[in-house]
Amino acid sequence: LHELLFADLGERADRTALVDGMTGAAMTYAQLAGAIDRTAAALAERGIGKGDVVGILSPNTPYYAVVFHGILRAGATATTINALYTPDEVAHQLSDAGAKMLFTVSALLPNAAPGAEKAGVRDVVLLDAAEGYPSLGELLTTTAPTPEVAIDPAEDVAVLPYSSGTTGRAKGVMLTHRNLVANVVQCMPMLDVHQDTRILAVLPFFHIYGMQVLMNMGLNVGARVVTLPKFDLAEFLRVIAEHRTNRVYIAPPVAVALAKHPLVDQYDLSPLEVLFSGAAPLDADLAGVVRERLGCRVAQGYGMTEMSPVSHTIPDSMPDIPVGTVGVIVPNMECRLIDPATGQDVGVGERGELWCRGPNVMKGYLNNPEATAATLDDEGWLHTGDVATIDENGYVSIVDRVKELIKYKGYQVPPAELEAVLLTHPQIADAAVVGVRDQDGEEVPKAFVVRQAGVELDETGVMSFVAERVAPHKKVRVVEFIEAIPKSASGKILRKDLRSREKA
Ligand code: ATP
Ligand code: MG
Repeated sequence: LHELLFADLGERADRTALVDGMTGAAMTYAQLAGAIDRTAAALAERGIGKGDVVGILSPNTPYYAVVFHGILRAGATATTINALYTPDEVAHQLSDAGAKMLFTVSALLPNAAPGAEKAGVRDVVLLDAAEGYPSLGELLTTTAPTPEVAIDPAEDVAVLPYSSGTTGRAKGVMLTHRNLVANVVQCMPMLDVHQDTRILAVLPFFHIYGMQVLMNMGLNVGARVVTLPKFDLAEFLRVIAEHRTNRVYIAPPVAVALAKHPLVDQYDLSPLEVLFSGAAPLDADLAGVVRERLGCRVAQGYGMTEMSPVSHTIPDSMPDIPVGTVGVIVPNMECRLIDPATGQDVGVGERGELWCRGPNVMKGYLNNPEATAATLDDEGWLHTGDVATIDENGYVSIVDRVKELIKYKGYQVPPAELEAVLLTHPQIADAAVVGVRDQDGEEVPKAFVVRQAGVELDETGVMSFVAERVAPHKKVRVVEFIEAIPKSASGKILRKDLRSREKA
């Protein structure tokens, strides 16, 4: 990966690679490449090399890219940890991955320190500085030579990100150097990203989407990547206006805010050209509202950690592909739609489980041969667990996850479709749908609804609104109002949390 991204900086050496959107501090490509080399040297001095795993627990900052690539440059493996994790979750990932060392930031020490301690990781280095800990700044003063490590791209694991844990406990995903490079190269012809592109990177680098699509695909072409540590609507809008970011990657919850929040009108968003959504279903109507309000193009892509991550996207050269679809398959990849009941390929317009194959598909899950065998078959097909359709143009639409489909009287009801309908209600701020059992033990769709402040919408109002817009078997049959919909850091609705709340 280092060779692809940094071996020849060429004319971009003096251009800005990364900017901290909070402080405005900037780093050029030459500075970045130098810092990566010195980090790798310092890691080698600490005894970190091929086969060793190093954790990163940090919000997005330019230094995230330094340590991420420093670890890979040293021949080691980076395991990127969700910045919202509790001490126990941090400890679990560090132990599961077998990490020897951890990079973190002082603000996260309350979780990082006990997590590292529990996992027996004693070498903790801060990206910033605090009493009692070595800092990256100190590591960067090393005069040791950058280690020369021979990488086997097809075998050596570059990163061990964990899946989002949307459907169960997060799984460690082994991605090789070849996997990462393959997806960067596959996406390049699809994305109009170049030296003048300014990317707003608020989606976390610890998640495969932020790591690859924002950070690595951005740095690969000499773009400018402006980081924000967390999503805050006002900060997000300010950075677009101030740093003139023209390409902004989001997950659907951000689209909901952009469609509905009054703050959006107070900023000059004219620099924004493309708003690109991924990680969870984006509704076409919602996308249309955002496009009108912001005056930019809205595109969508689909992927998963196991595919490094992108298999489908709307290419910038094909802006007329409807945004409710996830577009077309990336080069050098194949996909099939399989009827789970018969194992046969389904036809145009029919629903089937999406299977994908290509050089970006993971080596396997870490320490989990059963899960690997259940997901990756002998012919190399990755069974995504997502239900999709393909139309006559080859455009793919994601329906929902196989496991999330609600089985109502023999019909399959995709919760994502009902959530999209609910979000079109002007008095609904947010919504999520799960299957629950009624008195007769029948699975029925239940809506959790967050009302806009100060409105008087009741359960019947919600149910009849949906009933007027969907087929009878898809009607919402139970409604509960709640304060907020539980979501993961990568922007997905945590339906499993809503279901366990139901059982409690
Ligand atoms: P886990 O596997 O641990 O339960 P996860 O599947 O949410 O968590 P990720 O790898 O982050 O972990 O997410 C991949 C999933 O996200 C896909 O399988 C799909 O369900 C969903 N997804 C990604 N992009 C889209 C999209 N554009 N539209 C609909 N769903 C999407
Ligand atoms: Mg998954």
